[in-house]
Amino acid sequence: MRLQKALAQAGVASRRACEELIAAGRVSVDGQVVRRFGARVDPEKSEIRVDGMRVVTAPDLRYYALNKPRGVVSTMFDPQGRPTIADYAGQTEGRLFHVGRLDTETEGLILLTNDGELANRLAHPRYKVVKTYIAKVPGPVPREVIRRIRKGVELDDGFVKVDSFRVIDNIEPKALVEIRLHEGRKHIVRRLMEAVGYPVSDLARTQIGPVGLNNLKTGTLRALTSKEVSELY
Ligand code: URA
Repeated sequence: MRLQKALAQAGVASRRACEELIAAGRVSVDGQVVRRFGARVDPEKSEIRVDGMRVVTAPDLRYYALNKPRGVVSTMFDPQGRPTIADYAGQTEGRLFHVGRLDTETEGLILLTNDGELANRLAHPRYKVVKTYIAKVPGPVPREVIRRIRKGVELDDGFVKVDSFRVIDNIEPKALVEIRLHEGRKHIVRRLMEAVGYPVSDLARTQIGPVGLNNLKTGTLRALTSKEVSELY
């Protein structure tokens, strides 16, 4: 495997940033500084160091979908002692990264992996992974509001354009809507709906690219299929 790929997979940084580390002479393999990008390493045998620190390469890549319950913080450690994703990933071996975050009050699909490279890629808006959310908002939602959301809405930090928006259940006092979008700005769904006067009371993520929540029970984990993993790449 190429050195920059092994570093990225181990979660050091994106592949591009790993190339910069190599070019800067900060990476050694089996005690020798390597400045050549194409250098080949065996992630199971080579001793790779960045700035002298050992990098644990992860030849055994694992991928999971977690249905995060509401009230769980999207970190592996919380200084305030609240429940975290680590409490649910505890059933698996070794270190896992969570791919992106959900608000503490949002439930639903979050991906966990020890493949740092995939985690980095999916977090990058360039890869345009479409995420699907189901939100409960005051109902019914009038036609002109639906049209406005579909056209795009200006927020404090710029314009937001959804990939799709549809009303699943347009009843009073609560409507259920589905929002699909490929960006990761903080609180984006809540801010979008708030901006058009329909604040979200409940929010769940049900799909990330090819991976769906399907019938995964709240608070449980499932391994992704190899088809799902190759579609994510
Ligand atoms: N948008 C939100 O508002 N919250 C989330 O957790 C994810 C997307």
